Amino acid sequence: MTVSDGVNRSRPGYTGIVRQWTGVRFTALTLAILVGGLPGTAATPAQQTRVALVGGTIYTSPTAPPIPDGVVVIENGRISGVGQRDAMRVPDGIVTLECSGSTITAGFWNSHVHFFENQWNDAANIPAPRLEDQLRAMLMRYGFTSVFDLSSPWENTRRIRARIESGEVAGPRVRSTGAAIVGDGWMPPDDALVALGVMLFRAPVVGDAAGARAAARALLDAGTDGIKVFPVQPSAPFAALTDDTIRAAVDEAHRHDRPAFAHPTNAEGLLAAVRAGVDVVAHTTPQFGPWDEAVLAAIEGKDVTLIPTLKVWQHHLRDEPAAVRARSASTSTAQLRAWRGVGGAVVFGTDAGGMNDYDPSDEYALMAEAGMTFREILAALTTTPAAIFGEAAPTGRIAPGQPADLVVLDGDPSQNVRALADVRYTLRDGAVVYP
Ligand SMILES: [Zn+2]
Repeated sequence: MTVSDGVNRSRPGYTGIVRQWTGVRFTALTLAILVGGLPGTAATPAQQTRVALVGGTIYTSPTAPPIPDGVVVIENGRISGVGQRDAMRVPDGIVTLECSGSTITAGFWNSHVHFFENQWNDAANIPAPRLEDQLRAMLMRYGFTSVFDLSSPWENTRRIRARIESGEVAGPRVRSTGAAIVGDGWMPPDDALVALGVMLFRAPVVGDAAGARAAARALLDAGTDGIKVFPVQPSAPFAALTDDTIRAAVDEAHRHDRPAFAHPTNAEGLLAAVRAGVDVVAHTTPQFGPWDEAVLAAIEGKDVTLIPTLKVWQHHLRDEPAAVRARSASTSTAQLRAWRGVGGAVVFGTDAGGMNDYDPSDEYALMAEAGMTFREILAALTTTPAAIFGEAAPTGRIAPGQPADLVVLDGDPSQNVRALADVRYTLRDGAVVYP
């Protein structure tokens, strides 16, 4: 069965759309087009990205009232209309995805991932179907249409992005810091990386402000979307970079109008990051106990955002006794609660790739335990990262003119936040990229 002639089969998500057709309820008209076309209705390439999501409860933003029994119309990769079914005119001949019983939101951001597992090695030569399967399993499967990679070999990661953006494979919008900036001797030895299944790559090692500025400039000039710095060594003896060194890297990122991230390690690293003007702190630090008043006072009023990564600590402690895991969970959730208590912003991120369990549902549950509502978690997945990181194509809301990055969830996350991981469809630029 052919869809039509003249279709650009390299368009992003084209194979996803075709795959989708096997599992979707069609309108009679759609089916007629599929089986050979109605007179005068042969599908053109432009029509291939005309899709309507019909039924379902639509959250156009984390703050707007939900639209019950709604319709989202997508044309040419962008949202052209959204509203209640009774009030919407669905264009004739459009591909329809039945979404009754679902919840529809803007596409999600995962603002802490890594493309450094061995499966991404030699990204230019990974067979396209395998590359797309890997991206789907780690990201689109869970509704992620935008990601920020916070350390990986940049020349490799940029090839993943290039293959996505060329339309060769379906995938999310990818941003990356490239390799993180570290102090001398802070990276695990090569044999440890091999044992962890991680590619061998060189992180820029810095010892002073001039070195940090040069390292940041080299990364940014090579095209990275930000930088990441370790203010403090991630393992004992927890050596620290000087404030001048950290600030030089951060200033260089800001000179390029790009964000600076920090892996805090501990409260000392968190405080150093905040003093240096870092934009995003990439983890909580439950291994070192609660954040005290001095830490919270330093955060208050600062323009700094936290990626809590609550689940990753549970993953690292998975072989420890339940009491140890519970203590870590209560400390990390208390840190998130305290951060929000002094007005700190939060974006969602899991450290996927840094942990080979990609399922974000525990992260959602732990964020809820820390006191975040469904709508607050949705903001951390959509509008907050879009506001901090967004560039030419702002995402995060369902509104006419916006890129059609969308997630269709099977359940109702306003009742149970774990439903944020129960994805029926993920669309990027109007193309179905999952399943
Ligand atoms: Zn990480």
